[in-house]
Amino acid sequence: MEQHNVVIIGSGPAGYTAAIYAARADLKPIMYVGLQPGGQLTTTTEVDNFPGYPQGVDGNAMMEDLKNQAERFGTDVRWGMITSVEFSDTPGGLHTLTVDEATKIQAQSVIIATGATAKYLGLPSEEKFMGHGVSACAVCDGFFYKGQNVVIVGGGDTAAEEASYLAKLCPKVTMLVRKGELRASKAMQNRILSTPNIDVRWHTETVELLGEHGVEGVKVRNLQTGSEDVIEATGFFVAIGHKPNSDIFKGQLDMDEVGYLQVQAGSTKTRKPGVFAAGDVADKVYRQAISAAGTGCMAALDAERFLAEFH
Ligand code: NDP
Repeated sequence: MEQHNVVIIGSGPAGYTAAIYAARADLKPIMYVGLQPGGQLTTTTEVDNFPGYPQGVDGNAMMEDLKNQAERFGTDVRWGMITSVEFSDTPGGLHTLTVDEATKIQAQSVIIATGATAKYLGLPSEEKFMGHGVSACAVCDGFFYKGQNVVIVGGGDTAAEEASYLAKLCPKVTMLVRKGELRASKAMQNRILSTPNIDVRWHTETVELLGEHGVEGVKVRNLQTGSEDVIEATGFFVAIGHKPNSDIFKGQLDMDEVGYLQVQAGSTKTRKPGVFAAGDVADKVYRQAISAAGTGCMAALDAERFLAEFH
């Protein structure tokens, strides 16, 4: 069985940053890229808020840059999914990972950077306009809709926060809420309901997105009356929750009720010695590429110190 110092699971900003640091520390990390090589940034177009790119950068190009940087220092980037894990409870014990339900490998330390997946409504028109009017991140993409009318779906804290963010950039934000109430905290509800350019449409669902090359309008239906109409908008933001990609760690690592991995405060340590978590899989609050990269760096440093102590 292959045996490695560090195996990194996932290839978003957290995974690649961990790889750059681990490789430069001569730990010869192995990375498994997973189902969506490059992670969530590959579904966006322009990234304008990652420090160091004054002109902005295409999400795919940025992930390619990170991959090249990780490989330059000797990271072994491999296609494949880690489909199950058996973590050791003993400091210095070996962790066993299964690749693509077939091959087992062992690692002295593991960095989990499997990310989270934004939930979408599942409409064909939503998929068609992905990156061309459809976004699941207002903080990332809102700026591109400055001065334009937008629609946001959802009634939780994320939708409320994002609607509030968009209302500073856009003349009109229409918020589509499928029930007659918001799930968001009272404080956020008050903020939404007192912002003059946020129009909350209660009991309303999205029927489809209209447009030629990008979103031009959103066809909606009132769930109580059945009546339909079209809201003119060029941006359609989906904020109906995220799912952390942590299913394979159930029963072995601590996680909250939604599945976000729990780490010791101020570190990336999970409850298994030598297993670290970084990026969105362990972060339901910030969820930014740069914060993911920051925790990726921390995970590599935590792994390096762990290996120095126990191996
Ligand atoms: P939530 O699960 O809290 O809310 C999801 C929202 O989307 C609900 O209003 C839900 O409606 C709606 N929704 C779900 N599916 C659909 C659908 N198919 N069509 C239309 N609407 C749909 O997710 P959030 O991302 O908002 O929040 C996740 C967690 O993170 C929460 O615990 C939240 O409090 C926390 N959070 C905290 C923040 C803070 O403290 N600053 C900021 C952001 C998040 P319904 O109510 O009808 O089910």
